[in-house]
Amino acid sequence: MKILPSARPACNVGPRGDALARTGGQAVQSRAKAAKTASPLGTNAKSIHTPRKIDPDTGEITGGTPEFNPMESRVQRFALQAVARKFLPKSRTDKCLMLRQKAKDIQVWKSNEHKTTSYAGLQTCGSVWACPVCSAKIAERRRLEIQGAMTLHKAAGGLVNMLTLTAPHQFSDKLVDLLAKQAKALQAFWNSRQTKAILKEMGTLGQIRALEVTHGRRSEQNNGWHPHYHVLMFQGVGVDLARFDAAQMGDWQVRLYLVWAACCVKAGLGEPSYAHGLKLDDGSKAAKYVSKWGLEDEMTKGHTKKAIKGETPFDFLRSYLVDASDKQAGALFKEFAETFKGKRQLYWSPGLKKRYAVMDKTDEELAGTMDDYARLLGTITIDQWRDVLADKGRGTVLMLAASGGWEAVEVYLGAICGKGKKPLPVKTDQ
Ligand SMILES: [Zn+2]
Repeated sequence: MKILPSARPACNVGPRGDALARTGGQAVQSRAKAAKTASPLGTNAKSIHTPRKIDPDTGEITGGTPEFNPMESRVQRFALQAVARKFLPKSRTDKCLMLRQKAKDIQVWKSNEHKTTSYAGLQTCGSVWACPVCSAKIAERRRLEIQGAMTLHKAAGGLVNMLTLTAPHQFSDKLVDLLAKQAKALQAFWNSRQTKAILKEMGTLGQIRALEVTHGRRSEQNNGWHPHYHVLMFQGVGVDLARFDAAQMGDWQVRLYLVWAACCVKAGLGEPSYAHGLKLDDGSKAAKYVSKWGLEDEMTKGHTKKAIKGETPFDFLRSYLVDASDKQAGALFKEFAETFKGKRQLYWSPGLKKRYAVMDKTDEELAGTMDDYARLLGTITIDQWRDVLADKGRGTVLMLAASGGWEAVEVYLGAICGKGKKPLPVKTDQ
């Protein structure tokens, strides 16, 4: 009895694969292997100039200088998603970009504008919290929506200032309790007569509020979970803009802090310090914050394991990817994903979207949206997709497609042919 590789039907690698096959099977294998092992994470992408090292097993990037490469980040996100799936079995994220959409082909498309590649025809989870792949795609589009509204508001003579709200938190706090209390404090803050009066003085038209969370387990003083809000305030309407000088901003900050501190105490959170509880920043900070929206992780932390200002939930996935014995990272990510499921990441006050002609689209819709200017590179068969999944090669396919075109993908598919289906024992005459 022998195990014959031919027990599985020959893989369809297309005309390019056939041509290569004529030069000898081994050549195909070694060339494809080289294409794959060169670095699935993008060191052979033309835009990389720094001598960075990327571990093909862990996705960890070391050395070099922080630099943003969209394809490299996209590939790393697939590696992070694989970790998230491990902690969220049977969730929608577990199936995200794994299973085919009903009656759809699995396709790879390339954006003409960004030169990045992406899949079509696969199910997506649309989770802004738990899925590194979907959340990045959604954030990219949400960022454009926010920037569009800010640009129009400023063009009309307005200002966009930023308010950051934080409440006291301890190592022993459960995230679910902390979040519930903060939501209560926040509601009381916006409903307060004093807050309304101050916002009126500032000529406030509306706001966009973002919920974020970090964790301090790597900080000198570990205060556990740190949920907080960033609020972009669309202001300066019908008021003298000269009023927004440093002294007046300082006065508004003090008055808003006093309201916020009282709301925190009432919600059972304790009194926040003046240094940390509430910060009012001018437009430059707001613009900087939005420009990094959804990119911050890759741009500032993608190359390092250390989180200076606290770890984000995706940092937990990175930690686990590098060191699977970091069980705490997995447990914290699970607690985060379960607690934040269904919570709104961004809140626009009523009427603001309409005023600045922003379409109301759900996260799921955005996650499944294709780039406007994209072209089809190629289609992957079901058998080939099984091979890709078995090889953990979802990111590799996109990276090869972006840097080497469809030919490179075909070589790779040829090299991993049969990996998704174990060969059956076949009886022979010998
Ligand atoms: Zn997803």
